[in-house]
Amino acid sequence: MEELSRTTGSELRVVVVGGGVVGVCCAYFLALRGATVTVLERDELGLAASFGNAGLISPGHPPINRPGRLRQALRSMGDRLSPLYIEPRWNPGLVRWLWAFRKYCTADHVEHSMAALSPLGLRTADLLDELVQGEGLECGYRRSGYLEVFDTEAGLEWGREEVEVVERHGFAPEYLSGPALREREPLFGPGLEGGWFHQEGTVVEPYRFVLEIADRAVARGAVIRPGTEVDEIRSEHGSVTGVSTASGEDVAADAVVLATGAYSPGLMASLGCPLPVQPAKGYHADRSLADPDTPALSVPSLLGERAVFCSPMDDHVRFAGTLEFSGRNLDMRRDRLEQLDAAARRYYAVTDLPEPISEWCGLRPCTPDGLPVIGRVPGYEGAYVTTGHAMLGLTLGPVTGSLVADLVLRGAPELDIQAFRPERFAGT
Ligand SMILES: Cc1cc2nc3c(=O)[nH]c(=O)nc-3n(C[C@H](O)[C@H](O)[C@H](O)COP(=O)(O)OP(=O)(O)OC[C@H]3O[C@@H](n4cnc5c(N)ncnc54)[C@H](O)[C@@H]3O)c2cc1C
Repeated sequence: MEELSRTTGSELRVVVVGGGVVGVCCAYFLALRGATVTVLERDELGLAASFGNAGLISPGHPPINRPGRLRQALRSMGDRLSPLYIEPRWNPGLVRWLWAFRKYCTADHVEHSMAALSPLGLRTADLLDELVQGEGLECGYRRSGYLEVFDTEAGLEWGREEVEVVERHGFAPEYLSGPALREREPLFGPGLEGGWFHQEGTVVEPYRFVLEIADRAVARGAVIRPGTEVDEIRSEHGSVTGVSTASGEDVAADAVVLATGAYSPGLMASLGCPLPVQPAKGYHADRSLADPDTPALSVPSLLGERAVFCSPMDDHVRFAGTLEFSGRNLDMRRDRLEQLDAAARRYYAVTDLPEPISEWCGLRPCTPDGLPVIGRVPGYEGAYVTTGHAMLGLTLGPVTGSLVADLVLRGAPELDIQAFRPERFAGT
């Protein structure tokens, strides 16, 4: 805990806007290090993207940007069942985002991203361990590692290219043939080509994690106010003075941290720093382990070609995944949700799956370069933003919280966050 706290004695009043995993991690580390913290969440804590994700902490996972990805994405426009799906519609913001995304789908950018992300990934894994043990978090934490499997040669080759990159950045996935994979997970069917074991991966139940971290932030003096929507960041002479809420209340603060996930563009535009964050929808379907037809998986696994993650949790199994660019809405598309079951049937030796106990969708906040945003909002003393964690928000939540607390309270974080500065998209 000593390492986590690095108390500054500051009594800075900090408002964190947004109570997803990123917001509550910021609140926790800020409160732990001496700030007077208030979290303003327009809904209930943790019910947006952080609620139903796959629960995987995957420190070495690269972003989706890579050579060939845009072509793959554009091809998906005609295929509603594609794992990565862009709904054909006229949306100038999405068109601009895709245009920028194209620029970042190069081998050089993949190297740059991994060089920037891997120190965060390695730090977050340690922080999570310290948090779970030091704070006694009850969040279904499992240090199980995870498998990434492919059942086609082309898929395996695509996976191999990614593995070669992550190996250059401090990670060492272990290659396993089809039969070796079945030894690790006897429920796999016979058709696997091969895959990798990522030993650094861990799993938590994401909603429980959010509630537990929030609880520990409150124990350190943070105040959490659900049902409080922020509609303006207030400032005087370029310095933040607080926020105004949708109900007309002014909340005074010396610093404001925006952690509003896929909903960040509006408030950021009002600060003169537009962020090209697009929502990428994903789904989950949970099956109860009390039902004998639910496959009792031994190891969490990513079903490579279909981008579906299967996580064994305490009393259920979660199938989660797919990426859908179809706007900032929570419309559940049954045909896409069914892709989760189709993937389970394709890779596991299962035929009957029981009725789900939960079906859900949420919006990942995605930047065109695949990297999160962590930094000061230019032009305002005391304004900070962190969003854009895409598929890695749970993974990077702890390290983001720690970095933001450093930035707000000491002016300098322990790791280099240049690559994540919000103004990098100026002109995009
Ligand atoms: C299917 C799926 C699977 C995933 N699997 C994984 C995984 O295994 N591992 C992983 O690391 N990541 C995973 N992710 C990604 C991860 O869930 C997200 O990156 C993460 O939840 C983003 O957290 P956040 O706190 O930024 O946003 P959110 O959880 O969306 O929280 C933002 C909060 O801000 C609030 N808010 C917005 N505007 C305002 C306002 N004006 N005033 C007050 N409050 C406001 C919202 O109500 C919301 O609660 C997955 C995502 C999906 C969809």
